[in-house]
Amino acid sequence: MALKMRIAIIGQSNFAADVLELLLDRSNIQIVGVFTIPDKGSREDILATTATIHNIPVFKFACWRRKGVALPEVLEQYKSVGATLNVLPFCSQFIPMEVINGALLGSICYHPSILPRHRGASAISWTLIEGDEVAGFSIFWADDGLDTGPLLLTRQTNVESTDTLDTIYKRFLYPEGVKAMGVAVDMVASGTAPKIIQPEVGATYDPAMFKTENQVINLQATAEKIWNFVRGLDSVPGAIATVLHGNGTEEQIRLFGAHLYSAGPVSNGKVLRLRGLTKTAWIHSGGLLIEGTDGAFVNIRRIKRGTRVISASEWFKQAEDQSITDFSEDELVKRSLLAGIWKAILKEDVESSTDFFASGAGSMDVVRLVEEVKEAFDVPLQNEQVFMAPVFEEFFSLLVRFLRQGSAGFGNQQLDFEAFTLKANKREIRVPTQLFINGEFVDAEAQRTLEIVNPTNEEVLCKVACASATDVDKAVRAAHSAFYGSWRQITPRQRGQLMLNLADLMERNKEELATIESVDSGAVYTLALKTHVGMSIEAWRYFAGWCDKIQGNTIPVNPARPNNVLTFTRKEPIGVCGLITPWNYPLMMLSWKMAACIAAGNTCLIKPAQTCPLTALKFAELTVRAGFPPGVINVLPGKGSDAGQAVADHELVRKLGFTGSTPIGKHIMKSCADSNLKKCSLELGGKSPLIIFADCDMDKAVKHGMSSVFFNKGEDCIAAGRLFVEDRIHDEFIRRVLKDLRTMTIGDPLDRSTAHGPQNHKAHFDKLLEFCRRGVDEGAKLVYGGCRVPNLKGYFFTPTVFTNVTDDMFIAQEESFGPIMIISKFNGSDIDSLMQRANRTEYGLASGVFTKDIGKALNFADRIEAGTVFVNVYNKTDVAAPFGGFKQSGYGKDLGQEALNEYLKTKCVTVEY
Ligand code: NAP
Repeated sequence: MALKMRIAIIGQSNFAADVLELLLDRSNIQIVGVFTIPDKGSREDILATTATIHNIPVFKFACWRRKGVALPEVLEQYKSVGATLNVLPFCSQFIPMEVINGALLGSICYHPSILPRHRGASAISWTLIEGDEVAGFSIFWADDGLDTGPLLLTRQTNVESTDTLDTIYKRFLYPEGVKAMGVAVDMVASGTAPKIIQPEVGATYDPAMFKTENQVINLQATAEKIWNFVRGLDSVPGAIATVLHGNGTEEQIRLFGAHLYSAGPVSNGKVLRLRGLTKTAWIHSGGLLIEGTDGAFVNIRRIKRGTRVISASEWFKQAEDQSITDFSEDELVKRSLLAGIWKAILKEDVESSTDFFASGAGSMDVVRLVEEVKEAFDVPLQNEQVFMAPVFEEFFSLLVRFLRQGSAGFGNQQLDFEAFTLKANKREIRVPTQLFINGEFVDAEAQRTLEIVNPTNEEVLCKVACASATDVDKAVRAAHSAFYGSWRQITPRQRGQLMLNLADLMERNKEELATIESVDSGAVYTLALKTHVGMSIEAWRYFAGWCDKIQGNTIPVNPARPNNVLTFTRKEPIGVCGLITPWNYPLMMLSWKMAACIAAGNTCLIKPAQTCPLTALKFAELTVRAGFPPGVINVLPGKGSDAGQAVADHELVRKLGFTGSTPIGKHIMKSCADSNLKKCSLELGGKSPLIIFADCDMDKAVKHGMSSVFFNKGEDCIAAGRLFVEDRIHDEFIRRVLKDLRTMTIGDPLDRSTAHGPQNHKAHFDKLLEFCRRGVDEGAKLVYGGCRVPNLKGYFFTPTVFTNVTDDMFIAQEESFGPIMIISKFNGSDIDSLMQRANRTEYGLASGVFTKDIGKALNFADRIEAGTVFVNVYNKTDVAAPFGGFKQSGYGKDLGQEALNEYLKTKCVTVEY
């Protein structure tokens, strides 16, 4: 039997341990000893641990020589193993020549560059710093010089523009290096290993980058040189720069995540002064932008200050952040424990800047991390929080925040805001009164406010911040950063979970929300609870379910013979969406639009109606508690002509979802076209016809006919704007309607027995009085109401009934948006004329028919020009059913699967193979 080659492994780290494992599989080899570094504290090098598992003798030397002379006791131990070949996979120590030449076949050594280029300890860094187009490694025969011995083999790869020291090591130098060490040993064993003398041409010897003074970046360089230097030290140890603060102090920082940036300079940046930089550097929403001496730009995504790694864009915010400045001893102990958990999962040493995902972690690792952290620290961590804080230091800060704040920590942050306390409904409710931008409540830039009036008593409830175009711009930029940043890290299923968290929070706070809605908009409390808030919660739950079911199609197309073609579509979010809503169902209008928008993966800002923005602000608070990342949802109360217009005009807003009146809708559509041709969907006014045939179920027709007009005080876009009642039952129908109206309870909307509350605001109330006056002037018969409710403070409008209305009258054509029933007669023998009359309007939102004759009902459904048709029912909307109008009632749908498409774009991908 042939003698086995006796190998001594001299080195350290995972790389050496992997080489050991690889060689253990060779039957012609015996590993006779492993020589490595001493333990650091109680931590043994992984090479020693691996060797021990395989019963290989382990020797740990702090050093091999003193004053250039080999230590005799070390030499003796080395000789005791009788190695015929030394293998040095990764060795940071000086090995004496007595050892290098002490094995019969010599010593082979791994070096991470293509020798003779980049001799020295920091070869990979220099490959990047020097902008080499090719990287690689060499295995050479060690001699008495530094990386000068004859070459055994080399391997190479192209340097990609996305490479950093980490990526090039992980994707190529490590895995291919381990394999190549096996190949080299095999070549030695078979006697085929060459010894190629290194050429001297092209040889370099580069300084060691573990010396701090060498890590300082020279900013008097081109953008490309700055970029290469940063990535050459990314992620360990990081390039050093010095910030010059305005107060004369200096701060040393380290830079990570560099890339060339051709879109510079930035318009929204704030200048940061860096020592040695004669050009400018800006903090902007995408990071830290540095101008090189050549006028080109390099952008830095992450900065390490002290022990914390932050997003560079957060620099000024972090400077003001008082929350975590230093850690207690106990927290530092927990930091080590946490680092241990990360290390065990990632199987590598953990630094402040270690990125969980960049280190190769996958979804199972997220689950493991979450479960281990929950168990170790007793915190209710959720998977999405790992995606939101993937860098170790960020994650640790998140943990500390939780440990300090208890249940207000994770995704339940302590939120500071100015508020007014609403005392109503036996409750005291804190309602934020500031704008909600980028996850924080902030004052309006111009310090303007809106007075919010309680329609029940006409008194000012509170003042809330009133957004200007500048505030809108801030919110859009926050939404833009979130769309391209944190929101992208969240998977669709996690997005759905966030939406469900939000829905649960809304459910838990539903009495508070309904109370606010009732006081702010005049909605009857019970209706606010069931519809305004109830249907909002349902919308969030319904659309949460869609998040992970948004998919494209595979489409058969003509193949390009002789090849095949695969064509498929992807449904992608559009980007930043602006939402503008009216005052009739403030929270519900917000939810109908925003739930679809968010489910589709967009970020957004909403401008609620200026008269009642309070539930939107309370909602904003809940989004933080639900765990939504900053910038994904922004809420800006303000005026339509100012803030609303700025949303429609903004160049970074790619989609506008609008609900409101037809005239404003037309104006908005022009703005969308003029600004950046943004996609828009318009849910506009209506004048919906309701037909009541004589063969109807009269009880049902009266009940639904009443609610078709008086539901939510008539402030309902699908309210029946015109009732056509067959002449045979006309008088009977009116008699029964009037009977019910006389017993309708009108009063405080918070009172549980109230059926009819105040109109939303004064201008609307006055408009209704004017509407009735025109009806009377045109000759319609006012049979009930048409005036203020006597002896009651507040905008209480008496439910009203007009009869004898002819088609040409103003009140037959225009929307009142109030509790005004407009009744006309028709003859049941003339259905064609009836349909013509029903369709003789520029609106086409909803419609209804009451008849027991299914043929008549379906005939009506066929011929009516309206987006919604109710048969023997009215106002029966559902979050799963698409909702939206025809003609000048707008286009695009809220609710149902169709609403998702309003917030998605289709990309078609074609692949030839
Ligand atoms: P509106 O006057 O059209 O206002 C709607 C929203 O647009 C409000 O937030 C308003 O701000 C804003 N706005 C006004 N001018 C603007 C501009 N130049 N640029 C951007 N935004 C602007 O309607 P409304 O009186 O609030 O609501 C009643 C109307 O909404 C009715 O016609 C009703 O039928 C319709 N509506 C339709 C649906 C539907 O689904 N089809 C649902 C509900 C209501 P301000 O708060 O400052 O006015």
